[in-house]
Amino acid sequence: MTTVVQRIRTGRPVFSVEFMPPRDHEDEQRLWNAIRELEGLDPAFVSVTYGAGGSSRDRTIRTTGRVARETTLVSMAHLTAVDHSVAELRNVIGWYAALGIRNILALRGDPPGDPMGDWVPHPQGLNYADELVRLVRELGDFCVGVAAFPYGHPRSPDLDFDTDNLVRKLRAGADFAIAQLFFEPDDFLRLRDRVAARGCDAVLLPGVMPLTTPRVLSKTVELSGAPVPARIAARLDHLAADPAAFRAEGIDLVTETCERLMAEGVTGLHFYTFNRSKATREVVSRLGLVPSRA
Ligand code: FAD
Repeated sequence: MTTVVQRIRTGRPVFSVEFMPPRDHEDEQRLWNAIRELEGLDPAFVSVTYGAGGSSRDRTIRTTGRVARETTLVSMAHLTAVDHSVAELRNVIGWYAALGIRNILALRGDPPGDPMGDWVPHPQGLNYADELVRLVRELGDFCVGVAAFPYGHPRSPDLDFDTDNLVRKLRAGADFAIAQLFFEPDDFLRLRDRVAARGCDAVLLPGVMPLTTPRVLSKTVELSGAPVPARIAARLDHLAADPAAFRAEGIDLVTETCERLMAEGVTGLHFYTFNRSKATREVVSRLGLVPSRA
């Protein structure tokens, strides 16, 4: 079974995609259309996020298992420590292994309801992602990823503290990290420099989301924790009432960001898809990341 690291350490540029567990039948259809449309473009891996509630968690397990079983894609499951005892976490990791999933993104997660609310650990659970990395590692031959934050995690007092935490997670046994969304290529490259300055050479994948609508732009602000830079606002704001023009400019912007990252030696780009493939396909095709037969 191929691991994420085997797929991203080839030296040639690759892309990967992130999906969410489908909420209902219609969403499931949309997701599987997206998976099939992307499959021929040979993404390095596909990942499925892990939600806060029980049924959404079951859907993550089912979806990653189905990707592993029914497609040619390398599947990665996200897992968080939220509201889980260690025994339950062992159980979920066991399910992943039984479904043939070798890759896990180990996350602490946020308090359900209010991401900035007080973190209350499960009484028999874990406090931080590095503990989950160790647990996953202990339980089998998994390839493990962790989250990284170009602007620092909102609960970290400063960037040094935040980078030390990322390096701690990598040294606890993680093989690579995926970065939260950011606006400017330099924001990601500075994170890469901070990690390298600590003597750590793990692969960091930038998180990328094509800026197709004003709503996606707001979501990027929310997830990244950073305001829209003036340079980007100047290119997008006046197009807010013209969906086609906004989308075209947003795709151009993201393509330019990816080109700059690739010029700086970044060889893997991780796309957040919202279970749709069109914008990702457009960007990766413009970047020349698709097999020539596709
Ligand atoms: P940690 O690395 O544990 O860090 C959390 C905070 O605690 C940080 O501020 C850190 O600096 C601090 N910290 C860590 N260790 C210590 C210590 N020993 N002492 C004091 N402070 C410490 N969430 C989901 O619910 N489901 C998903 O599927 C999901 N996927 C994600 C994918 C990516 C690529 C990213 C970037 C995020 C994802 N998230 C997901 C969000 C993530 O769960 C939250 O951002 C969460 O708040 C932090 O998780 P973490 O794994 O980075 O936590």
